[in-house]
Amino acid sequence: MPKSLSELTTIRVGGTPANMFVATTRDELISSAVETWSEADQWFVLGGGSNIVASENLEEFSVIKTENFGIEREGSTVRVQAGENWDNFVAYTVANNLTGVEALSGIPGCVGAAPVQNIGAYGQEVAETISRVEFLDYKTHEVVELTAAELGFAYRDSIFKSGGRLGVITWVEFVLEEFQPEREALVRLTEALGRPVTNPAEVRESVIATRALKGMVLNEADHDTWSCGSFFTNPIVSDGFSRSIPGDAPRWLQEDGSVKLSAAWLIENSGLPKGFKLGDSQAALSTKHSLAITNRGFATAEQVRELASFIQLQVANRWGVNLVPEPNLIGF
Ligand SMILES: Cc1cc2nc3c(=O)[nH]c(=O)nc-3n(C[C@H](O)[C@H](O)[C@H](O)COP(=O)(O)OP(=O)(O)OC[C@H]3O[C@@H](n4cnc5c(N)ncnc54)[C@H](O)[C@@H]3O)c2cc1C
Repeated sequence: MPKSLSELTTIRVGGTPANMFVATTRDELISSAVETWSEADQWFVLGGGSNIVASENLEEFSVIKTENFGIEREGSTVRVQAGENWDNFVAYTVANNLTGVEALSGIPGCVGAAPVQNIGAYGQEVAETISRVEFLDYKTHEVVELTAAELGFAYRDSIFKSGGRLGVITWVEFVLEEFQPEREALVRLTEALGRPVTNPAEVRESVIATRALKGMVLNEADHDTWSCGSFFTNPIVSDGFSRSIPGDAPRWLQEDGSVKLSAAWLIENSGLPKGFKLGDSQAALSTKHSLAITNRGFATAEQVRELASFIQLQVANRWGVNLVPEPNLIGF
């Protein structure tokens, strides 16, 4: 009997799917995906469930769960199986004096999902270090190797997230660098973290400490972490439009002249303080970070969806900006 998605996702909502295949090796991942596709029209891949909001109605869905572990290293090239825990991989790189993903410490989930939304934090994006992925294509059932240039990486986006390629990532290959003390990247990280860091281990420690204060490190006892992390991406608008937002709001100029706004600022300045909830709903904004929708204990998928829609409406009415959800909404 498959488990309910409320037990398998970090926001802890969602129903029970019809079937679930748990793949513990790359070959099993491929064979279980092909088998699933021959039997079910509605399916999805599940890693750590930290970026999925599933509806209560999953009876028509089959799930392929990645539990294929393994990290292999050749010089500074590291190949990691899709089911490996992301943070274990980061810890491995830091312990081996490799740099490139240390600012992504503490992000929950599996390595196979990292390219899907091009995970990022504190000035690093995983697109900077991924060289290749192995991918089983839903349409052709072929296993192909795709290079980073083919993955359409952008801010919290890739061809996998935008629907350009449907299928399963089986492993991800990273090209990292041996840490050199004078590395420019550390200067960038020092700026992003607001405190001086001199090596990847210090970056890791500092990032995890900073994230914990914001409820962005999973903690069973802390409802502020029963979430999907940020629920909305930071909107990118034209320079002209950005001038309609008050000057004290954070704004980041992009290479193409557009401007990235802070979704957290827009929410807080639309009359929605940290901890906000609708009536007696069990879904609420985190008390530590206004961008995270959290489950206070017994939230339903519908309550999460309702709060997300309410936030979108408030921000659209106040600022004319359409907030786009970051997590993958399944079965709504
Ligand atoms: C407390 C918290 C903090 C977070 N902080 C950050 C952050 O700082 N930065 C950030 O970018 N994200 C953050 N996230 C979001 C999330 O952790 C990442 O997106 C993570 O990469 C999701 O991994 P997962 O294995 O849990 O994916 P899942 O939630 O299981 O899946 C996410 C999506 O990827 C697809 N997918 C998963 N594995 C595969 C595969 N092998 N092949 C094809 N498709 C696949 C799924 O079908 C789904 O569409 C945070 C989440 C939480 C709960």
